[in-house]
Amino acid sequence: MVDVRGVHKSFGDNEVLRGVDLRVGAGEVVVVLGPSGSGKSTLLRTINHLEKADRGLVGIDGDLIGYRRRGDKLYELRERDVLRQRAHVGFVFQNFNLFPHLTVLENIVEAPVATRRKPLVEARAQARRLLDRVGLADKESAYPRHLSGGQQQRVAIARALALEPKVLLFDEPTSALDPELVGEVLDVIRDLARSGTTMIVVTHEIGFARDVADTVVFMDAGVVVEQGPPAQVLDEPQHPRTRAFLSKVL
Ligand code: ATP
Ligand code: MG
Repeated sequence: MVDVRGVHKSFGDNEVLRGVDLRVGAGEVVVVLGPSGSGKSTLLRTINHLEKADRGLVGIDGDLIGYRRRGDKLYELRERDVLRQRAHVGFVFQNFNLFPHLTVLENIVEAPVATRRKPLVEARAQARRLLDRVGLADKESAYPRHLSGGQQQRVAIARALALEPKVLLFDEPTSALDPELVGEVLDVIRDLARSGTTMIVVTHEIGFARDVADTVVFMDAGVVVEQGPPAQVLDEPQHPRTRAFLSKVL
């Protein structure tokens, strides 16, 4: 489903990704762990071409992100075509990023109506189903500022799902939340995992990783240091850098 191969990315002379390979099968959940600055966010942003890799390629469901292959040559896609590809990749940020001037329902219907030309009636019906799914059926007319952080993040998840993405990327979805609100957001993500949503989740929630991940990936200094099933990476880490990191967060 997601196939990241040999991705390199530098900002000036800071080489942030130094050859990352990552594969995520359909319906799989990959949790990415790693210290601050190891390149986790940059990797997610590269996957949906918010950052363009300097080298290496990202494939999603057979599509080469940002490029078209003709014969053995690669051609860069136009911005419009990149946007179309990006619409298949849901992105949930640390800080929710809801539109403050739109109600909850309007936040969710915006993209399907504007970019997919979905009829408003259909988009609203779908948005209500999604709000029900994230436990916010009674909040459709509220504005984001009237919701708790956990509720805002659940709206953000519903909004990402409204485009029926092939894969959902989460960048530390609970790290801006008060501790008592973390559980409600993780429960929603856990429910998505159970229903077979393909996801890459950057998080420091080790308990969640243990429960939900098919694969745990540990990144440090722009490379994947170690990856495998949670029991292997979390309980029997092979690499000293993984051990050092886990001893700090566990
Ligand atoms: P954190 O856990 O703190 O979120 P991270 O693993 O997500 O860290 P990144 O945000 O990917 O790390 O950043 C990796 C490195 O790339 C850092 O040194 C950061 O300063 C640098 N970096 C990220 N984005 C940019 C940018 N747009 N311009 C310049 N440098 C950047
Ligand atoms: Mg980050």
